[in-house]
Amino acid sequence: MPSPITRRGFCHQSFGFGLGAFLWQTLRPFWSPNGRRHTIGSASTGTTPLIITSHRNETGRRAMETAWEILTNGGSALDAVEKATNIIEVDPEDTSVGYGGLPNERGVVQLDASIMDGKTYSAGSVAALENIKTPSSVARLVMERTDHVMLVGAGALEFAKSWGFEEENLLTDRARERWLRWREERSDRDDWGPPDHLRTPGEPGTSVNASQAETHGTVNVLAVDADGDIAGITSTSGLSYKIPGRIGDSPIIGAGLYVNNDVGAAGATGRGEDVIKSCATYYIVMRMQEGRSPQEACEDALQMIAARYRAVGLDFLPGEKFVAINKDGEYGCATMRSTRVPRMTVANRSGLSIYEGTIAFPTDT
Ligand code: ASP
Repeated sequence: MPSPITRRGFCHQSFGFGLGAFLWQTLRPFWSPNGRRHTIGSASTGTTPLIITSHRNETGRRAMETAWEILTNGGSALDAVEKATNIIEVDPEDTSVGYGGLPNERGVVQLDASIMDGKTYSAGSVAALENIKTPSSVARLVMERTDHVMLVGAGALEFAKSWGFEEENLLTDRARERWLRWREERSDRDDWGPPDHLRTPGEPGTSVNASQAETHGTVNVLAVDADGDIAGITSTSGLSYKIPGRIGDSPIIGAGLYVNNDVGAAGATGRGEDVIKSCATYYIVMRMQEGRSPQEACEDALQMIAARYRAVGLDFLPGEKFVAINKDGEYGCATMRSTRVPRMTVANRSGLSIYEGTIAFPTDT
C-alpha cells in the first residue's frame, strides 16, 4: 500500500508547527522502470497561482510564504520567484546557494544563477560570480537592462557593482571548515581526470560516492501568476570544490532552467554536466508541450539521460533532480537514483505543502 504523507511526518520533516492550511497529497502506487514499487504524488488537479521550490526546509517555507503574498496581491511570477530566491540565497546555513555556499577548490565561492520570464520571452544569467549574495537579482538585471543573456566572472561582478550591489565575503566559517577538511583529503575527491562515466569504478578521482553526492545542491523556484504568466529561477554555488571557473548547468538557459509561457517551466539540480549535455529542462518543457504532465515530463528526462549512456554501452546514472510546473498549475518532481523520494515545497490556493515525487532508479543504500 502506498503510504500517505502524515501531518505529523510533514511537520517533523519540514515546516514545524501551526502554519495554517496544508495540503496532503494523495499518493498512488508507481512501478519504477527497474520494476520496484514506489510511490508517486498525484498532482492532477492544478490551480493557479502556484509557486514551487526544490527546497523543502524552513527557509524554503519562508520563501514560499513571501512569494505567495506577492502572488495573491496581484504580483508577477517574476517578482515572486526573485523575492523567494533571495531569501534562500542570503541564508548562511544553506551551503548550496548564495551566501554560505561551498567554495571552489581554492576556497573561493563562485555563484551561478539564471532567470527566465515567460511573459516577455526574456532570460538572463550570471556565472562564476564572486562576492555578491544574490546572483539571481544580478541575472534579472542582465535580462532587463542589457541586450545579453549571460555575463561571467569579472564582467558579471563589474556589472553587479555598477548597479549598486555591495561586494561581501561569501565564505562563512562553516563553509570554510568543510572546504579545509575536503582539501586535507582531496586526493580521490576532486574532478581532475576523465569524466565520471568514463572511469573504472574505484579509480582514484571517481566522484560518484556518498561524500561527493552531498556536495551538490541548488535551488529552483518556479511560478505561474494570476494572469497565467510563468517565470523561473535557478541559483547555486555549484558543485563544491569545483575546478576554478567551472560553470554548471544552473546559469545555462535550457539546461538548469527553462520557461515557455504557453506551456510551463522546469528546473534542475544535481550533476550539471549531464543537465548541460541533455538540455534537460528544455526537453522537459517540450515534453509538457506534447501533453505530458510535469511529473511525467521529469521522469521522461531522467529516462532520456539514462538511455543516452546505455546507447554508448555505459551503465551510468548521474544524480539529477528535476522539478516542473505547467500553465494549469500542475507540478511534479523526480530524481535519478536515491534511497529517498525527492521532495519540493508547493504553495497554491490549498496552502503550503510538501510534494513527494518519484525515483527513476531506487537504490537500497
Ligand atoms: N547543478 C549544479 C551544478 O552542477 C549543482 C547542483 O545542483 O548540485 O553546478
